[in-house]
Formats: sequence, structure tokens, C-alpha cells
Amino acid sequence: MKTAGRIHPVYAEMERTVFDRMSALAREHGAINLGQGFPDGPPPPALIEAAGRALREKSNQYPPGPGLMELREAICGYYARRQGLALLAEQVTVTSGATEALAAAVFAFVKPGDEVILFQPAYDAYAPLVRRAGGIPVSIPLAPPHFRYRAEALASAITPQTRALMFNDPLNPAGTVASHEELAMMARACVEHDLIAICDEVWEDVRFDRVPHRSLMGFPGMAERTVKIGSAGKIFGLTGWKIGWMIADGHLATALARAHQFLTFATAVPLQWAVAEGLLLPDDVLEGQRTEWRAARERLKAGLAQAGYEVLPNAATWFLTVDLAASGIALTDRAFSERAVVEAGVASVPISALYEGEDVPEHLVRFCFTKPADVLDDAVERLARFRRELTG
Ligand code: PMP
Ligand code: GLN
Repeated sequence: MKTAGRIHPVYAEMERTVFDRMSALAREHGAINLGQGFPDGPPPPALIEAAGRALREKSNQYPPGPGLMELREAICGYYARRQGLALLAEQVTVTSGATEALAAAVFAFVKPGDEVILFQPAYDAYAPLVRRAGGIPVSIPLAPPHFRYRAEALASAITPQTRALMFNDPLNPAGTVASHEELAMMARACVEHDLIAICDEVWEDVRFDRVPHRSLMGFPGMAERTVKIGSAGKIFGLTGWKIGWMIADGHLATALARAHQFLTFATAVPLQWAVAEGLLLPDDVLEGQRTEWRAARERLKAGLAQAGYEVLPNAATWFLTVDLAASGIALTDRAFSERAVVEAGVASVPISALYEGEDVPEHLVRFCFTKPADVLDDAVERLARFRRELTG
């Protein structure tokens, strides 16, 4: 069969994701993997116990497509408690990770020719999903080191064809958080131009600034135009479970559920039971894990600084960003990441992989810190040696 011309152009030249590629390189070279984001520590025992119980005692057949009612209710309870949002279970669709929710939201609301605003660095799934739906991604670059959102940049990107924006707060890979003013500005623009906000809030509960997360959904005029996306993978540090969800008002929620039913229809049911139990746990259970992550963040930050690496400010996520140029390293981020995994035995993520177009910063690499202390110490030692070799 002739394959040329049969493959959708979005997939014709597509590479494996930078996260998967760096993890494969880490395995190949036996490197410490600070690339793809996942914690190495033990998951909350209550969730493992609940998943085991669900496997043994509950049905292992198809759950309702939009998700177990118990989980949808637990998600609403969680957001009422932690973010003051008043949501109904009918507004929630459970998905196979936030990735599926992003796909469903784009497929539900982006039509051929629609422009969708993305902020760069952007999670790598966004632009291909928009293009696969026939939409046109319009990217607004955010400038390091603070990655702030500017009203003028947003205003000049909006055209009569703009239908939606995709907004990731807290922001992966930068680890920064939008201010109240930035959120209010974004909300005003969405209302004024009648845009749908696809809000990727998977990092909402991985914050170290002790400020409660605020969803764009809670701003005036936003409830009816926001898709709020979350992930148990991040809340509980269980990335392999791939349980996520999307929440929206009335008609939007119906469209999302329709998109979901022909992407995956339903999601692993024993894990849905376990996540439902997890979301009902008292907040101090989660706090234990947060305390460990906070300590790991301080450890890697101090170690990298000691080794001569310039670390950018970070308030959230599992990631620290290093400025190579300011660290005296004259390599592009891609060259650094590719050499470091082989020569130093440490995998990282080059941040330029999450930008498209011109003026892409090529001096930033991301390191995941949610690893045991001895692993972080070993990684720092390797990176210190590597920097000495590079800077002579
Ligand atoms: N969005 C962002 C910003 C992410 O960082 C991630 C995962 N790291 C996802 C979406 C995907 O989440 P999930 O694994 O639940 O599909
Ligand atoms: N989002 C994760 C990260 O930033 C990776 C997810 C994936 O590999 N698909 O590392």
C-alpha cells in the first residue's frame, strides 16, 4: 500500500514527544531521569489500598461513560472545599488523563479555520490537537524568567476568527503561577471577545507558594465559557493511573461528554473508585506528600546553585528551570540535554521543545525534582562535574 498521502499531515512528520524521548534516552544510557515529570516516592498508601479493594470487590466491567457518579461527586466536593467552586456532578466528565480531556475540549469546540490562542512554552499536545481539529494555533510567547501574561500581547493576538484560548496555570515547564491581575485580565478578554477558555489546571495542587489555586472559571462571566481540566496524576503523584477530568457548564459539558464518548468512552474503573476515595481524604494526607516535594525542591535548588547553575524562580509543579547562559554554559538547551544524558548520566528536558516559531529561547532546561534525596544528590554531583567540564 502507498502510505504517502494517507497519513494525516499533522502526524506525517511528528516526532516522539520530548518527554518520552528523554525517558527512552535515560533508559538507554542508564541515566538518572530528571526529564519526564513523575515522582519516584511511594504513592499515598490509602489510594493503593483503595484500588486493590476496588479490583477485588467492585465490578470490573464498563462504568458509565462520563465516569462513576461517586468520583464525579468527589471531584465537586474537592473543588468546593479547596477552591470555593459550586459545581454539580453532571458538569464533570472523567477522562483517561488530562491529555484526553484536552483532546475532547479541542474536538468539541474548535472548528476548521478557528484560531486558538496558546501561550508558549505550551504543553506539547496543544498545537497538534488544535491543528488536527482544523484550527489554527496562534502563539503568544511568554518571556523568561517570569513568564508574565500581558494584556497588549493578548489583545493583538485576538482576531474575529479567535474562538478559544488554552491556558495552563500553574505553567509547565516554567513552574510559574498567574497573578490575580493576570487572571482577571484574561477573564475580561474572554468575556469581551466571547472566547472559550480551555484551562489546563493539572498543577493546581502542586504549589509551594502557600497561595490557594484560583481557577479562571471563578471569575465574572467565566463559568459559562470555561473548561476546567484536572488530573489525579498530579494531585496524588500517580502519573501512570491516567485519571483526569473536565468540567464545564450546561451545553459545554454536554458537548465535552459527546467528544469523550468516541475518544475512549470510559476510563479504568477500579482507579476511578480509588481516586474518589483519595479526593475525600483529609487535606493533611496530601500535605505529607507536598512536604516531601517541597524538601526535594529545596534540595535540588540548593545543589544546583552550589554547582554553579542559575535556577529560575519557581512556585509550582515538579520542575526547576536552569538558565544555561547565566550558568556560563554556551550550549543550546537541546545540545545540553542530549549531551548531559550521555556524558553526565542525567536526563533533563530542553524547554525550546515546548515552543514553536521564531525567537525561541534556547538557554533553558527543566529538571524534575520529585526524587529521593540520594538520587538528587547523585544527580547534582554528576551535573557539577559536567558543568566543570563544559566551562573548563
Ligand atoms: N497538561 C500539562 C500542563 C501537563 O503537565 C500534563 C502532564 N505532565 C498533562 C496535561 C497531562 O496530564 P495526564 O498525565 O493526566 O494526561
Ligand atoms: N507532562 C509530563 C511532563 O511535563 C509528561 C507527560 C508525558 O510524558 N506525556 O514531564
